[in-house]
Amino acid sequence: MGEGKKLVFALAGNQNSGKTTLFNQLTGASRHVGNFPGVTVERHEGRIKGHEFAELVDLPGIYSMSPYSGEEIITRDMLIEERPDAIINIVDAMNIERNLYLTLQLIELSIPLVVALNMMDEMRANGNEVNIRALSERLGVPVIPISASKNEGLHELVDTAIDAADKRLKPAVTDFCAGPVHRCIHSIAHIVEDHAEKIGIPDRFAATKLVEGDAPIMGKLSLNENELETVKHLVREMENEIGTDREAALADMRYRFIERVIGETVNKRARSRERERSAAADLVLTHRVFALPIFMAIMFGVFWLTFGVVGIPLSDILGEAIGVFNEAVGGLLETAGINPVFRRFVTEGILTGVGTVVTFIPVIATLFLLLSLLEDSGYMARIAFVMDKPLRKIGLSGRSIVPMLLGFGCTVPAAMSARTLPSERDRVLSILLLPFMSCTAKLPIYALFTAVFFPNHGAAVMTLLYALGITIGTVVVLALKNVPFFRGNPVPFVMELPNYRLPNAKSVFILLWEKCEDFLTRAFTVIFAATVAIWILSNFDVRLYMVDDYEQSVLASLSRMLSPIFAPLGFGFWQATIAVITGIMAKEATISTLAVVSGTTAEELPAVMSAMFSTLQAFSFLIFVLLYTPCIAAMATIKRELGSGPKALLLAGFQFALAWLLACAIYQTGRLLMGMMR
Ligand code: GDP
Ligand code: MG
Repeated sequence: MGEGKKLVFALAGNQNSGKTTLFNQLTGASRHVGNFPGVTVERHEGRIKGHEFAELVDLPGIYSMSPYSGEEIITRDMLIEERPDAIINIVDAMNIERNLYLTLQLIELSIPLVVALNMMDEMRANGNEVNIRALSERLGVPVIPISASKNEGLHELVDTAIDAADKRLKPAVTDFCAGPVHRCIHSIAHIVEDHAEKIGIPDRFAATKLVEGDAPIMGKLSLNENELETVKHLVREMENEIGTDREAALADMRYRFIERVIGETVNKRARSRERERSAAADLVLTHRVFALPIFMAIMFGVFWLTFGVVGIPLSDILGEAIGVFNEAVGGLLETAGINPVFRRFVTEGILTGVGTVVTFIPVIATLFLLLSLLEDSGYMARIAFVMDKPLRKIGLSGRSIVPMLLGFGCTVPAAMSARTLPSERDRVLSILLLPFMSCTAKLPIYALFTAVFFPNHGAAVMTLLYALGITIGTVVVLALKNVPFFRGNPVPFVMELPNYRLPNAKSVFILLWEKCEDFLTRAFTVIFAATVAIWILSNFDVRLYMVDDYEQSVLASLSRMLSPIFAPLGFGFWQATIAVITGIMAKEATISTLAVVSGTTAEELPAVMSAMFSTLQAFSFLIFVLLYTPCIAAMATIKRELGSGPKALLLAGFQFALAWLLACAIYQTGRLLMGMMR
């Protein structure tokens, strides 16, 4: 079957229908799955397990073939221009009406198509039934019942899809309509037939798009004036005859067909148990008054668990273990009679630097475990819904919450996810807000400083830092609203609220692993390199002699030139300066740098730090770190997403200035107050 030649399968479907879950199952990949619309924003490719000649492309979710946002365009372009050998159209059986709306449009592409009817487990649990055979006949394409997350029906799906691609089984039914719309589409199809053929799209599809008034397709077809006039005329005729406008007429036609098909093939209880449960939960969780306090309480709970109860204590244990390991290695090198310089390089340089960063894995794992539980349960989508109103007040839409929340993980994927925003204005605004969402790489810095300087108020200081970031971001966005480009209103919010689900252990684990893997990779690459460089620079002087005192090192001399910049902020000493600079490479490098330049082990670092900073200086440093220039990776992504021009550079400069001013204000005010109290 198909051996030898390569087959390309496109995975298309609505958002949140289980595409990525299916993709992961079929290819063995582990992409991020979320009970949250808009998680997949780029296409991903993989080979189907056991059928290495079959390539599967996971596409962002779409609701129709009339694209409004960036990721819908990706999907549509792939389907129209690359023409895959077959489309696997994943349909959420629990929302079959809305899902089939896309199916009808995919059928028009006249590419072999297989419908994967997903979530059959929920369907069954609700006591609903689908007559698969009848549904398949009415749609004119194979329909395979599956459950992506339970791994059911996937073999049959793959076999059917390969078969359809091999035999080029085009959809058998192409007409879903009768009456005026039908007549109009057919007449237009005749007129544009040769134009459509020239650019390689089916005439039926071209005709429907013309009826819809789809500008990009209309442009591509390059009709002459006469033809355009005729098309316009035919459409107007149709509109007159049924008395609605063109888009409504088409939508109406499709929904009527779907209703009829579903009436004949699906036996559904009035409401599903999941929906009922979700609706009951939503009475409280999205309540007009309680929703926001509940959200805040939940977020505080998350921070409290992460920094107070679980994360930090686990980090401490890991830190001790790393300390023991470090000593053991040091001892081993000593008994082996290794050169003491090299010994120090290994223990004080590499092990301390990388070790300090690795210690924070438990904190990050805990935070993301909790966040992914919230996401996979469906609660995050409610947050977007609840936050829509307040966000709208500052000129953003509820959808911006997706990039914002991802921003607490890492700015890089967050900036990319902003592509799900339907308008350019909303997208750019959301991206500019991102650097104010504290990413996980800053977390070790906060955690370490709060542990040393505010041991009894850990969760409070953390919450304060995060809240301050959000507040300042908000103020910035509000200010930007006066810039001409950002005037106007966010695009209205339409987002599906998925049912609440028990989080799937596998997808939560995948999400968790993604974050930790990312973090670990950085610890052993960027941080490793930075640590080595800093150890060398801080242990040798300009003439390459090993120094007795770090004060004489190359690094100290270099940093001392820059440290006056930070004097007004309270940390104008060279160790802090160099930590700030390496933080631009990668935020985690800030603490490993502090560890290396003070020549201590991770265990002794807190003691050294409390000698280095006063509490006020530490606080000022935290504020500065919260707000100053994002790391290089984030800047590069922001630059890519915002397009050419100096926008990204301006943002970097602006953030540095903002951080400086605020930290300075806090430090100077703090000093004044302390002076007065004395
Ligand atoms: P995508 O947005 O289409 O890529 O959808 P995802 O793959 O991210 O899945 C959306 C949600 O549906 C996740 O919470 C999945 O765990 C869940 N899900 C996917 N397939 C099934 C299934 O067959 N049964 C059930 N009960 N849930 C599923
Ligand atoms: Mg997805």
